Amino acid sequence: MFKRSLLPLLAATVATSLGLAACSAPGSKDGEQVVNLYTARHYDSDKALYERFTKETGIRINLIEGKPDELVARIKAEGENSPADLFITADAGSLWRAQDAGLFQPVTSEALAARVPANLREPEGNWYGFTRRARIVAYDPAKVKPEEVDDYAKLAGPRFKGKICVRSSDSVYNLSLVGALIEAWGPEKTGEWVKGIVANMARPPEGGDRDQIRAVSAGVCEVAITNSYYYIRMATGDDAKDKAITQKVSLAFPSLDGQGAHVNISGGGVLRHSPNKGNAIKLLEFFASADSQRHISLHNNEFPASPDVATPAPVDAYAKFKAHPMNVAAFARRQPQAQSLMSAAGWR
Ligand code: FE
Repeated sequence: MFKRSLLPLLAATVATSLGLAACSAPGSKDGEQVVNLYTARHYDSDKALYERFTKETGIRINLIEGKPDELVARIKAEGENSPADLFITADAGSLWRAQDAGLFQPVTSEALAARVPANLREPEGNWYGFTRRARIVAYDPAKVKPEEVDDYAKLAGPRFKGKICVRSSDSVYNLSLVGALIEAWGPEKTGEWVKGIVANMARPPEGGDRDQIRAVSAGVCEVAITNSYYYIRMATGDDAKDKAITQKVSLAFPSLDGQGAHVNISGGGVLRHSPNKGNAIKLLEFFASADSQRHISLHNNEFPASPDVATPAPVDAYAKFKAHPMNVAAFARRQPQAQSLMSAAGWR
């Protein structure tokens, strides 16, 4: 009955966000195939993907959009009557939260195994990545030498006292980065690093990643910690002001223990009570297809997950970096530990 009460909402969401005919239930009806996609991605460019999936498979997508934590809370509240088939979001940390809440079921598929490198998926098959993003730095090349920012460890040293801009510790991006350091270094050394970053902050954390990049150009700090696609979007997008900023601010890919930059994913998993499991797997496979990876890379400036998918221009100009081979699930599950180290250090 709970399922029924959701129907108008589902129909309204689909009608407004996709412009598709809003009808029928979250399950198959009259032989019609459907899949209920709960997504924290909210890009106009994704609509073209959904339409292509329906055209190719005949499976209609019911779309529920929301913030990651809101969707997790909603699926949890819906319980075993949840119509949710597939949950898609950015950052392995957000996927881990859904897994930790018991929302996923492990799935295996030849296509997913072939399309998604082993380190970019949860080992039991609870979730899979289809694009990559690096958490790296943007810096002022007039003040900072590239070799001063080629290693995450260096960011916490006295060289950068009062020179670093970074967003708050409630950002899952930062939790995942610190989680990766814990995985590599253990909590003690990482705790020292976190304290060093707090000591090096040019100002108390405020704003998002793009605001940190803008602050470098404004002379507020010399180095900003940012996800790669924000910088690439500013450098290659339509905003002339942002473009001018990136001409004065350079991008660097620091290395973790010489093994490469910290890499995260956009990805998704099939939900435990999925009423249309087969269709959910098909949609996840579709996201992981070469065409979809290319499409998402082009429109959201992330990097494809599969090594055989060439990064499209203009993102390709930034794609030639070494990525750390750490499994995304290994740092994702370190979030609670990361949060406590950051809180203890006063990273607000
Ligand atoms: Fe983002």
